Amino acid sequence: MKISQIKAQEVLDSRGNPTVECDLTLENGMTVMSIVPSGASTGVHEALELRDGDANRYLGKGVLKAVENINTKIAPAIIGMDVENQEEIDNKMLELDGTENKANLGANAILSVSMACVKGAALAKGIPLYQYVAELFGNDTTSYKMPVPMVNVLNGGKHAIKSSDVQEYMFMPIGANSIQQSVQWCAECFHNLGKILKELGFATSVGDEGGYAPSLGTNEKPLELMVQAIEKSGLTPGKDMALGIDAAASEFYTEDGKYNLASEGRVLTGEELVDMYAGWIEKYPLISIEDGLSEDDWDGFKKLEEKLGDKIMNVGDDLYVTNVKRLEKGIEMHASNSILIKLNQIGSVTETINAIKMANEANMHSIVSHRSGETEDTFIADFVVGAGTGYIKTGSMSRSERIAKYNRLMRIERELESK
Ligand code: PEP
Ligand code: MG
Repeated sequence: MKISQIKAQEVLDSRGNPTVECDLTLENGMTVMSIVPSGASTGVHEALELRDGDANRYLGKGVLKAVENINTKIAPAIIGMDVENQEEIDNKMLELDGTENKANLGANAILSVSMACVKGAALAKGIPLYQYVAELFGNDTTSYKMPVPMVNVLNGGKHAIKSSDVQEYMFMPIGANSIQQSVQWCAECFHNLGKILKELGFATSVGDEGGYAPSLGTNEKPLELMVQAIEKSGLTPGKDMALGIDAAASEFYTEDGKYNLASEGRVLTGEELVDMYAGWIEKYPLISIEDGLSEDDWDGFKKLEEKLGDKIMNVGDDLYVTNVKRLEKGIEMHASNSILIKLNQIGSVTETINAIKMANEANMHSIVSHRSGETEDTFIADFVVGAGTGYIKTGSMSRSERIAKYNRLMRIERELESK
C-alpha cells in the first residue's frame, strides 16, 4: 500500500526535552505515529541527533530543523512509495542525507520515518507489529521467543548525579517462564529493594530510567543490596534472578587512559577495572557487563573477553553504536560476545536489522535497548519479539515510559498464548 502523507512535529521525551514525532498516512486513510528516543550517555560514534542549537528555545535542544527536514525533504521523496519496501525507503533516506553519520537530515528525522513505515506496513497488512518485524528479519512467524528483560533498578552515572559511577544495575529474571512472571518478580524485587534502602536510611527517589538513585558510597554496594532484595522476594539469586550492570565506562574514562571511580575516590587502570569485575563475578550472580571499558578501548574489551567472556555477557554499547562497521571490527578482534542494539544510534530500521543479523552470524547475543530519554512509543517491545534476540533492556519498574514497554510485552505474550 502506498504512503500518502508524512508529517512531523516536535513533542517532548521523558526528560522534558524536545524530540521528533512522525505521523504517516496510508492511501486508505489509516495513520500511524512514531516518536524517537534520546540518549544522555551517548557514544561519540553514534549517528547525529539533529538539534537546533537555538538557545532561545528549549535551551538549544529544539528539533524544528529535523522536523522541517522530514516535512520538506524526506516526505516529498517517500510519499507514493510502497510502505512495505522498508529497505528501499531507508536507502532512499540515506541517499538523500548523503553523509556517513546522518548529519544532514539528522538520525532523529530519518529514524522516526523509518519506524513509522514499519508500523504502517504492519497496519496495511493487518498483522501485529511484532509479526511484521519477524517478516522483515525473515524469521519464523509461527513461534516467537519472548525476551529476558534486563531491569535497571539502580541508576547512576549520567542518569542520576551523586549516585554510583556505574550507570545501571539490572535484575535479570533468568528463571522466569514468561514475561508476566518476569515482570512480577522484577517488580517485587524492585519494591523490596526500595524497602531495604529505606530501612538503611537511603533515598528512594528515582533517576532517568526509573531506578533508585541513592549515594551508596561504593560501586559494589548495589550488588549486595540487590541480592538481599532477591532473597527478600523469596527467590534464589543466580537461579531465579541474576544481575547485570552497565558500567558505561566511557563516562568515567580519563584523558590519560584510566578509569576514575569518583564516588569511591580512586582511579583504576583498565586491567584493575577488569579485576574488579572479576571479583564481583565471584561474589555475586553477575552475568552481564555492558560497556565495562571505554568506547575506543578495544584492547581493554578484548582482555575482558579473554578473562571473563565464558562467564558473562560482555556487551558493547558505546563500543559498537549498532554500527556494522564497528561490529565487524569487534567480531574480528573477539572484543566481546554481545551487542546492545539501539535504533537511534544508527538511525534506521534496516541498518539496525543488519547489525542484529551480523551479530547472529557471529553467535553474539543482541540486547534490544531503550534510551535514557524515552517516550510513550512502545516500538522496541514489538521489535525485540519479532527480532527474536531474547533480551530487552527497557528500564525500571517505575515511570510509564519504561512500564509501557513491559505492558506491551505482556500484551503480546497474552495474544500469542491465546493463539
Ligand atoms: C545506555 O547507556 O545503555 C543507555 C540506555 O543510556 P543512554 O540512552 O543515556 O545512552
Ligand atoms: Mg549502555
